[in-house]
Amino acid sequence: MKRKLLILGIVSTAAVLLMAQAQKKKGGAGRWNQPVGYSDTPVIPEQKWKVHDIDRPTPRQITPGTLPTNPPSDAVILFDGKSLDQWTFNGKRDTPPAKWKLENGYMEVANSAGDAVTKEKFGDMQLHIEWASPQEILGNSQMRGNSGVIVMSRYEIQVLDSWENPTYADGQAGAIYGQWSPLVNAIKKRGDWNYYDIFWEAPKFEGDKLVKHPYVTVMHNGVMLHHHQKVVAPMAHRTVAAFKAHAAEEPLMLQDHNEPVRYRNIWARKLRGYDEK
Ligand code: MG
Repeated sequence: MKRKLLILGIVSTAAVLLMAQAQKKKGGAGRWNQPVGYSDTPVIPEQKWKVHDIDRPTPRQITPGTLPTNPPSDAVILFDGKSLDQWTFNGKRDTPPAKWKLENGYMEVANSAGDAVTKEKFGDMQLHIEWASPQEILGNSQMRGNSGVIVMSRYEIQVLDSWENPTYADGQAGAIYGQWSPLVNAIKKRGDWNYYDIFWEAPKFEGDKLVKHPYVTVMHNGVMLHHHQKVVAPMAHRTVAAFKAHAAEEPLMLQDHNEPVRYRNIWARKLRGYDEK
């Protein structure tokens, strides 16, 4: 009788473990199981689509080339694979101060360290940054390899595992999050290294008033995603946020969205106007 009970126990434990594994593979439960779009959100200014519109067409997928880029002599080296000295970490509520993981030439979201924030501040800039999604699939939609390049700590170019992962168009990899979907999906296979080259024109304020919107050009793996596109609001989820005046230069931020996204070879050039030395 005891033996029967023992066998029954082992069999039922194994069944529970197998079900949990299958659930995880399918895209998981709870917070890992995300909606792939919304229809109850506000309309994005100057567009016909709502924020994260479930009916917005998703970008067609293409296959990018392979060459990344080395920094030129006037670049600020933000991460060379050896040190996190150029960064501070926001931390999260109730967690002790910590840093992202640094190993094998990359930095990885870890340790509940919060967003990674540059010590240097930038206005108009050219940014090169390389990133890789985690190999392990935990969730779906926005819970799959989510991070973000948050320019001036406010305006997000989305980082997401957009390889065979349906989600709303304005939340795909390379989207100006919640505003503009990328022109194409130039993602590489899960776990492969991607790179962005971002050309940023900072907003201008007079007192509290916005007098010039930010504009951005984004290349993903050498492919154009946005060409001098007007950024219509700071980053926000399911809504359109209002601009709030900020300094002409602000830190660059990489988003901690609780997933082990990796970054490497990060450098930025401060841009000057024509005829300025
Ligand atoms: Mg993000």
